[in-house]
Amino acid sequence: MKPRQRKVLLIFIVLFSMLNAAFSQLADKMMIVIIDGARYTETFGDPTYKYIPKMKSLSQEGTLLDNFANNNYTYTSRAIPALWCGAWTAVEPIVYQGTSTQYAVLPTLFEYYRKQKNKPAEDCVYVLKYVPSLWLPSFDIDYGPNYWPEFHSVGSSDQDVATQAQMVMADSHPHFMLVYLAEVDHAGHLGIWENYTASIQTADSIVGVLWEKLQSDPFYKNSTTLIVTNDHGRHDDQHGGFQNHGCSCEGCRHIQFLAVGPDIKKNFVSTQYRNIPDMAVTASYLLGIQPQKATGNTMYEIFNFTGTNEEIKPTFRLDATYPNPFSKSTNIRYYLERAEHVRLNIFSVSGEKIITLKDEWESQGNKLLRWDTKNAHGQKVVPGIYFYILQVGNKSETGKLILANDS
Ligand SMILES: [Zn+2]
Ligand SMILES: [Zn+2]
Repeated sequence: MKPRQRKVLLIFIVLFSMLNAAFSQLADKMMIVIIDGARYTETFGDPTYKYIPKMKSLSQEGTLLDNFANNNYTYTSRAIPALWCGAWTAVEPIVYQGTSTQYAVLPTLFEYYRKQKNKPAEDCVYVLKYVPSLWLPSFDIDYGPNYWPEFHSVGSSDQDVATQAQMVMADSHPHFMLVYLAEVDHAGHLGIWENYTASIQTADSIVGVLWEKLQSDPFYKNSTTLIVTNDHGRHDDQHGGFQNHGCSCEGCRHIQFLAVGPDIKKNFVSTQYRNIPDMAVTASYLLGIQPQKATGNTMYEIFNFTGTNEEIKPTFRLDATYPNPFSKSTNIRYYLERAEHVRLNIFSVSGEKIITLKDEWESQGNKLLRWDTKNAHGQKVVPGIYFYILQVGNKSETGKLILANDS
């Protein structure tokens, strides 16, 4: 290949990856931060936001749920597994590798992710302080230990956890991370208000630092969703105050849910009622996995793409386009699992729309759309690279077309 050709090819590859990033709808990386036991009245329920300045400013780049709840057990040993599983899973005692602990009966988001995406443990990392007896994910027959996350359990403070999380990001760039911050709950139980609120401020600054880290690393930048939530709150002042938790009072139930990322609505406060199982199911949607045994619902209202509703689930498959490269025509093929609204547009490498090949409801089955290299005015387009976006319901996929010289 001549140097000039190589240069042109390189430019095409760079352009393609840029366009691909611009057109792909779903961020493919996810960080979930759980701040254990922060009461809503000290986080987003405080109109001055004095303990959470970073998360307040992040919420203007993302979506805040103002009506998110722990709708069942308001204590850690049940609520954390529920956040993992997208369901109020039973937990069972177990002696595992000589240590007494508990495991979740239902499969976790980690297991769905690793099995369905065929990912190694180092791509799915759970960062928390050192604990001698980790709570375990499931032994479900279809999932289980082969699909557990890598537990990175080091240090003792939330600051240590933040440092470790950044090391993990820099060293192995996992697509999926869960960062667990324990100190707010611990400080709350000790009953000293100033320490409790200071630990919320620390957790808030950690969220800010992690987000900055995500945005300063090209691997994560503009392709990562950050979710920050809690497992439970703490008693409101009518039910014993901030020191403890575990009942069904508003203070124990009302928790925060903040999401930021390319697919999340910006500067949006949703008042729709949602609860703990919806977190993992929504994260699954963004990760492109099916949490089969979860009971929660996808929170479509937080996504920034349009036309979504509860009825629409991912129901199509893009098949190989042939021929490709081509000079006269090519066939774009896909399969619909059920009747769906389908739109297929072809774009030039500079992002200009060339033609709409389909924009209507289609029945279930195998489909084929032929493109004869003509634009919307019936003129043949010049050889080069083109892209198509197949949008089925609220999901889309992008493909590349190479129109070769006619010879
Ligand atoms: Zn807790
Ligand atoms: Zn309570």
